Amino acid sequence: MVIVQKYGGTSVGSFDRIRNVASRVKALHEEGHQVAVVVSAMSGVTDRLIAMAHEMSSEPDERELDVLVSTGEQQSIALLAMALKESGVPAMSITGRQAGLRTTGSHTRARIDALDGSYTRGLLDEGKVLIVAGFQGIDTDGHIQTLGRGGSDLSAIAIAASLEADVCQILTDVDGVYTADPRVVPDARKLPEISYDELLELASVGTKVMQSRSVEFAKKFGVKFEVRSSLNNNPGTIVTEEHPNMESVVIRGVSIERSQARVTITDIPDQPGMSAKILGALAEAEVNIDMIVSNIASDGMARHSFTMNTVDLGRAQAALQPCLSAVSEKAIVETEGGIGKLSVVGIGMRSHSGVAAQMFQALGDEGINIGMISTSEIKISVTVPEDRIEDAARAVHKSFGLEQTPA
Ligand code: ASP
Ligand code: MG
Repeated sequence: MVIVQKYGGTSVGSFDRIRNVASRVKALHEEGHQVAVVVSAMSGVTDRLIAMAHEMSSEPDERELDVLVSTGEQQSIALLAMALKESGVPAMSITGRQAGLRTTGSHTRARIDALDGSYTRGLLDEGKVLIVAGFQGIDTDGHIQTLGRGGSDLSAIAIAASLEADVCQILTDVDGVYTADPRVVPDARKLPEISYDELLELASVGTKVMQSRSVEFAKKFGVKFEVRSSLNNNPGTIVTEEHPNMESVVIRGVSIERSQARVTITDIPDQPGMSAKILGALAEAEVNIDMIVSNIASDGMARHSFTMNTVDLGRAQAALQPCLSAVSEKAIVETEGGIGKLSVVGIGMRSHSGVAAQMFQALGDEGINIGMISTSEIKISVTVPEDRIEDAARAVHKSFGLEQTPA
């Protein structure tokens, strides 16, 4: 089989951990597989390189920044290849450029444009175990570019696509995707599989497993992959295209976000263009708005509420003051912190009704008050008091029977 594995920064975070990865890779090689291993920089290295750049310049030139930060991965591939050679495995480290990983777009957040797998395939056929630098590629003019933080995931998925690998494994410090965060919901269960869209939705509401761009890329190119632990050999979670069986499960997982805040603006004229003005001002201040609720009072004045992360609250208030005084003297801005957001995600929602009602009932039974509500095709999110967010997660998890293995 052709196997692509990716090890993240923590998994290669020390010399011992690199040796651990080497012994795992050696075992695969000895089983007769063709193996390409994509690695991240040792944990903390990328951050340190970025900090070094800021010693030289308050706004480091992005081309040069890419030249610098891409060296983190070059250290770890060389070290892993050395460890493998030491134990008699014919390993060879290669850079993104050598792996044919062509990029386009801006420095520090480039996209993958093309991937020519002929060189890597040739090396595998010669019996080499390839150790590929993640996170980096080369644009058509020959400049080194990087793929955004966490971009080694993307490198791995792309290399798996180019090699038409039989198996693509993302090895990390969690052992899969769970129905909820086990630290919050003790009976959370590891999911045997999840669809690309469900993982993307869960990531958008606080469940961080891997870089979302790489999940999108995998979806686009139909790369099925597995998220599993680099510290044991337990099966992880397969991330794949959705199939009809998946719909029998209503909810795949529950996710929470803390530190949310709400801004409510009342007494603004109900006129065309008003929302655009307000949201425009917030966008300009780089405030990331999440949920939006608008309604019209009987006196013809409108009221808008938005949620955002608490860290954005100060910037939001500063941006709103001048914008609102320009449109109405009476407009009032109120803010409220201490808000948590609870979301449920599942493609089964498309074909099951009453999901929202069941979720709200579970929260009501716990005496938890719901603030704002938003929905998408496969997700329902509500705000609740932050100090009840964990109770809320446990109640909803239980209500949908997520602790039980589906029949
Ligand atoms: N080393 C890069 C980062 O820390 C890429 C990666 O780890 O995937 O973002
Ligand atoms: Mg990393």
